Amino acid sequence: MAFAIVLGACLVTTAIVLNISWIIHWREIVPLVLGIIFFGILIAGVVWNTIFLVREIRRNEQHDSFINAVTHELKTPVASIRLYLETLQSRNLDEAQRKKFYEIMLDDSDRLMTTVEQVLRASKVGHKRGQEHWQEIDLAELTDECVQVSRTRNHLSPDEMKIENHFVGQDESVVRGELDDLRTAITNLLENAVKYSPQQRQIKVVLISEGGQSLVRVADKGVGIPRSELKRIFKRFYRVPLRAIAKVKGTGLGLFIVRAIAERHGGSAWAESDGEGKGATVTIRLPRLRA
Ligand code: ADP
Repeated sequence: MAFAIVLGACLVTTAIVLNISWIIHWREIVPLVLGIIFFGILIAGVVWNTIFLVREIRRNEQHDSFINAVTHELKTPVASIRLYLETLQSRNLDEAQRKKFYEIMLDDSDRLMTTVEQVLRASKVGHKRGQEHWQEIDLAELTDECVQVSRTRNHLSPDEMKIENHFVGQDESVVRGELDDLRTAITNLLENAVKYSPQQRQIKVVLISEGGQSLVRVADKGVGIPRSELKRIFKRFYRVPLRAIAKVKGTGLGLFIVRAIAERHGGSAWAESDGEGKGATVTIRLPRLRA
């Protein structure tokens, strides 16, 4: 990529130097005007070509990281399920051990399902869709439902994942949108808060109204996010290269999906953190039905 940018910059500079020297030599009005026009076209072409090259290189890099992340995320649970099935087939195990194996296999198949769903959803959010499936949604009810599911799935107590509802009345809580999409966005935030809090799980979900819009804010006391990465984490396939989370599984699609869904609903999504080890807060803002 650096080569493409340097080459582009060198070509632009050479074109400028050559063109100016030619135009100054000729000192005639027609070649001067034509020279300036062609010169403009030439420079625009070179700049466009450089931008195109850089974009293509980025897309290729993203493609590679996608293949790596997804292949790994698909292979690992399948390999694990296979191993447990082989053990069950070849050995006589007692009931307790069997039960444990079944639980692990169920967890692995859940993981597999989540990866497949994330990939399908990421390709779906890129397409233009109409609003035919939109409906009135009570954000407080939906968030509560997602929190219950996440607590059960991750074996969390109500103290480990708390919910604070500051909405006053239905007006602050009701938004219009696609139920499945908003459920996915909130679930992604909750699952990230759990995943990136390996030591102490102190997750707080706050529902609050601000400037006529409704906010769902998920705060954790986990590994945190370096300030320089706060914007990048919303890019497709981007994962923060932190040592503390090198073993945490993921595809880098979760927050990309969250932002795409928030924007599709006329809202936004952003992350805040005081840095590594200091926890993170990710917020989704959605316009209210009755602003
Ligand atoms: P994934 O979790 O599959 O890697 P995401 O798009 O959900 O993908 O997140 C992108 C990156 O943002 C993660 O790899 C992680 O580094 C960082 N991140 C997201 N949520 C949190 C959080 N709550 N705390 C710390 N880091 C986070």
